[in-house]
Amino acid sequence: MRHLQSSIFLLVLLTISVNAQDLYRRSNDTIVRRQVTTDAVALAPVISTCTKPGSFAITFDDGPTETTDILLNYLKANNYEATFFVNGLNYRCIYDQADVIKRIVNEGHQLCSHTWSHADLVKLSDDQIRLEMTKLEDAFRKIVGKVPRYMRPPYGSYDTRVRGILASLGYEMITWDIDSGDAIGYTINKSKAVYRTSIRKEPFPTPHLALNHDVEPSTSTVLAPFAYKYVIRKGYSPQTVGSCLEDGNWYKEEVEPSPRDSSWVC
Ligand SMILES: [Zn+2]
Repeated sequence: MRHLQSSIFLLVLLTISVNAQDLYRRSNDTIVRRQVTTDAVALAPVISTCTKPGSFAITFDDGPTETTDILLNYLKANNYEATFFVNGLNYRCIYDQADVIKRIVNEGHQLCSHTWSHADLVKLSDDQIRLEMTKLEDAFRKIVGKVPRYMRPPYGSYDTRVRGILASLGYEMITWDIDSGDAIGYTINKSKAVYRTSIRKEPFPTPHLALNHDVEPSTSTVLAPFAYKYVIRKGYSPQTVGSCLEDGNWYKEEVEPSPRDSSWVC
């Protein structure tokens, strides 16, 4: 497997260097050549856990829906921070849930991209991948005036090509080191056990980054409250992904949001 990965990597490098040389032959400008080479090898980083000791990022995917509001009420009442990886059109159309997106940002949580339609990016063409990202960027721009720097690939599915395209769009990728299993049919008790076992295996202050889904009603009402109380009891400080990576730069673009108009449709 490692051999195969090395071979593929080498092949990609060779292809890139051939392309770069072609470009160089077509241009006498060495600065252009250097730039092309650098851009061509850029891959979006894949981050699977937090770096700050004692930090614990609890993240929620696949919203927004009405249950996201229930979770936001809980977080606000307890002054807790979360990170939301949202879709444009998954359980709901993002434009019909614009108030939820605004709440996420206004109440201090981190907003991240989870692609427009929750697509498996590996199965899409380059253009389709770009569209999955930019269509959601448009919605973010209109609704809250902020375009996230962080994204999570649906199903945790990515390859070198996907990473290259995401890098060219300015994204960093966030996966997880704890999966509560709430999206794959785990009972609440089984999901709670995942938290307990993971922390027992790598206790405080080893940082963690946990995957949950606010679209699951039992996650927003039962599992999330358990997770926050539990990690705090174990010594952790729950915080956003940006904060646990010591990165305050959550958004790659900030503009004035626009009022609702006829383009706010999915
Ligand atoms: Zn998802």
